Amino acid sequence: MKSRYDIIVIGAGPAGMTAASLAAEHGASVALLDEQSGLGGQIYRSVTCQGASDPSILGAEYYQGKTLADRLVKSTADHVKGASVWQISEDREVGVTVDGAACLVSADHVIIATGAQERPFPVQGWTLPGVMNAGAAQILLKSSGVVLPDPVFVGTGPLLYLIAHQYLRAGVRIAAVLDTTPRENLRNALWALPQAYRNANQLWKGWGWLRDLRKSGTPFVRGVADIKIASKDSAAQIEYKHEGVWKSLSAQTVLLHQGVVPNINLGMATGCAHDWNDTQLCWHAQLDAWGQSSIEGVSIAGDGASIMGAQGAEAAGALAALGALHRIGKIDQHTRDDTGHPLHARLRSQAPFRRFLDMLYRPALQFRVPREDTTIVCRCEEVTAAHVRDAVHLGCQGPNQLKSFTRAGMGPCQGRMCGLTVSAMIADQLGRPVQDIGAARLRAPVKPLELGQLAADFRITGQRLR
Ligand SMILES: Cc1cc2nc3c(=O)[nH]c(=O)nc-3n(C[C@H](O)[C@H](O)[C@H](O)COP(=O)(O)OP(=O)(O)OC[C@H]3O[C@@H](n4cnc5c(N)ncnc54)[C@H](O)[C@@H]3O)c2cc1C
Repeated sequence: MKSRYDIIVIGAGPAGMTAASLAAEHGASVALLDEQSGLGGQIYRSVTCQGASDPSILGAEYYQGKTLADRLVKSTADHVKGASVWQISEDREVGVTVDGAACLVSADHVIIATGAQERPFPVQGWTLPGVMNAGAAQILLKSSGVVLPDPVFVGTGPLLYLIAHQYLRAGVRIAAVLDTTPRENLRNALWALPQAYRNANQLWKGWGWLRDLRKSGTPFVRGVADIKIASKDSAAQIEYKHEGVWKSLSAQTVLLHQGVVPNINLGMATGCAHDWNDTQLCWHAQLDAWGQSSIEGVSIAGDGASIMGAQGAEAAGALAALGALHRIGKIDQHTRDDTGHPLHARLRSQAPFRRFLDMLYRPALQFRVPREDTTIVCRCEEVTAAHVRDAVHLGCQGPNQLKSFTRAGMGPCQGRMCGLTVSAMIADQLGRPVQDIGAARLRAPVKPLELGQLAADFRITGQRLR
């Protein structure tokens, strides 16, 4: 890694790999930084070293990531593995830790492509042993070929069904799928179906997962309205409310999922403006048509800006690279616009399908605003729903003030696991829109950084932190 580049791209998923390859192909010096040990991001994690005995477990779509990775490897971009970015300064100095040492690398333009994270699912017992996000189970499967025993899948959204389907193909017996999709969502989403039908292949793919799950005999309970999880004899005891009646089952593993939301921490800590999006129920970065944020020379691409899926992320990564190349004088406006035209068209064509998914799998309020007082909201600081409600009752008006009342959002995850819940709870209690309540203010370092790492000799650049 050098100490200076034309363009630094953070995140090696479909958006970041495409942005870095395209920028390097146009003659820019490019660094692609990612904290993972390989290329691929979330969807294509470990695709370059995948050793699954049966490729059908992860599905043909997964292996498409190899084309993006091969293109990146052939380009002149420097891919820095294990590079955890904790800061972007006003003058585009990127603070990054590699191999235990911190350093600063500067660029004329920075593209943040840090992707998505799973939406918090704060139900009673979500912090117990054996209970985890379904995405974490998929990470184990992709990176180590490991599956968890006797799982119950709980929640809503295409990724939940995909992971359950991957488990099925891996030969795992699934104890049950408890589907929390609100029944009225289908009615609300129907008007968007005719337009979404343009992406009929995607619809059929999702329908195929559900059909296979049903055919396998996996118990599939729709319309689950409430969930409580407890530990009993080293197994998880799951109580769920279905058609007004509480029922229960036990399993060794509970895998929770209710959609993905942009991973906003780096963009917000850099000062990029965000707005609340009430369709996707998350914060979206304010961007121009080329992914340029409200901070000059900093763009955001892919699911880190708004949830658009892997193909959308690829197009958005290419558009951000074109915008950056034009901004730093590597291509003229004509080239940018001509190359960008089909990419903009591709993004537009995918929008109706995304809208349909957003409406169909909109998580219910009771799974975003915990009803039970004892439910943990902030896992790092063990702040419960009652603590948050009491603080609001005492006059707390927003997530930043709540930090002084309760420390919610001040732990090592920096609000990733509680930020959305806290804002939604305060908005719900005060009867105000989430946009008015705002998000917790984020500050660098956005990733845990040890004093020893800061103090370490800068083995990579020889540069010292100022
Ligand atoms: C757990 C999980 C699993 C998913 N699995 C699938 C799937 O199987 N199929 C599917 O269609 N969609 C999946 N998705 C949705 C998927 O993330 C997107 O559609 C797609 O991968 C978005 O691409 P992206 O390039 O925007 O970001 P991503 O692919 O998420 O890539 C972002 C990259 O940024 C890196 N990063 C983040 N922060 C930092 C930092 N501070 N410093 C350095 N690197 C950083 C991450 O390590 C990651 O590699 C998944 C999402 C999640 C959260």
